[in-house]
Amino acid sequence: MPTDASQVVGAWITSKNIKCPACGGTKLDPKPQITISLPVVGGRLVTSTGHRRLGFGGLPGMPVVAATCDDCGYVLQFSAIKVGAMQKAY
Ligand SMILES: [Zn+2]
Repeated sequence: MPTDASQVVGAWITSKNIKCPACGGTKLDPKPQITISLPVVGGRLVTSTGHRRLGFGGLPGMPVVAATCDDCGYVLQFSAIKVGAMQKAY
């Protein structure tokens, strides 16, 4: 697994011919970090499942990678597992 996800995300964007959904721009800047999108349930941020198997190191969120549009700043997010930036833990 690469430590810098930007190459994987950039290749994914190119292979799928993805454009910015906000402005149609094609200059998308993939980011190197894998981040976790955490759920909000009932207006409260859920920070733990209490079960390490159910999430990313015990977190209930979804690992994502991002790219920003150089033209309008829109942030695109993709599943880190789906694009191949990390493996599923279970
Ligand atoms: Zn844009």
